Amino acid sequence: MDEKADLHLHTVYSDGTLPPETLLQEARLAGLTTISITDHDNTGAVDEAIAIGERLGMDVIPGVELSTSVGSLEVHLLGYFVDHRNRKLQDYLALFRAERLKRAERIVNKLNGLNIPLTLEAVLRQAGTGSVGRPHIATALVEEKLIGSYHEAFLKYIGFGRPAYEEKYQISPREAIALISDAGGLSFIAHPGNAIEETVLLGLIKEGVDGIEVVHPSHSMERTAHYRGIVSEYFLLASGGSDFHGGKKGDRDALGRYYISTADVEVMRHRLG
Ligand code: AMP
Ligand code: FE
Ligand code: FE
Ligand code: ZN
Repeated sequence: MDEKADLHLHTVYSDGTLPPETLLQEARLAGLTTISITDHDNTGAVDEAIAIGERLGMDVIPGVELSTSVGSLEVHLLGYFVDHRNRKLQDYLALFRAERLKRAERIVNKLNGLNIPLTLEAVLRQAGTGSVGRPHIATALVEEKLIGSYHEAFLKYIGFGRPAYEEKYQISPREAIALISDAGGLSFIAHPGNAIEETVLLGLIKEGVDGIEVVHPSHSMERTAHYRGIVSEYFLLASGGSDFHGGKKGDRDALGRYYISTADVEVMRHRLG
């Protein structure tokens, strides 16, 4: 039977606010039967989520979200069905997380230079054991009462081009596609509607990406239809999801609203062979 699948979710293993258990419970309440947790540079939630999924009767697909760069443009790739025990994949994820930590330190230093007394410790308290990112820095700034709001943190300081912005360590899409594919997975261009021009999109297709995330909160219905067109034209796979981070970043209602069908997931499984 055709049911709802959300293949883009974050937990405390990256910049989400919920642990896997709570996330799966909420996902089930929202009517989803298949999910993928796609934490940034981290597959720590996967084993836990699969076990919880078995208990709740939900299908959990191993996933991960990687950051790549095309010139100065940041392109996110989603990897599904990866063997999360793959050595090379885990070595790279560990490297990305170590580089994220160094970058958080550089951002904190820049903020200190702007007379904002944020400490790395306050940021790491937000990140816990998960991949540290700018959302943790923004939340720490709010918690420490150094800024008025989460969004203000990005607008004034840590957003792209702002004075405390620091680039993330990124590999090329080609390298990320190979990493995912060598770990037995399928790669998807995440939320292309955010900033990816058509020429870049076609370049990624040439480099061997398996599919496109057609459904995403940042995509209008027209955008979604447009990407579905590209998917069928190039014999690609279609994915989609809510990019839910736990409800604190204005994404409270996203769960259960942005989904693909479990039939789409079956098509992915067929492509895997
Ligand atoms: P990072 O991976 O550390 O670069 O953090 C990227 C995340 O920060 C994104 O996934 C968004 O959740 C958040 N983010 C980036 N830019 C903004 C912005 N201008 N306003 C609010 N959140 C943002
Ligand atoms: Fe995120
Ligand atoms: Fe993303
Ligand atoms: Zn995401």
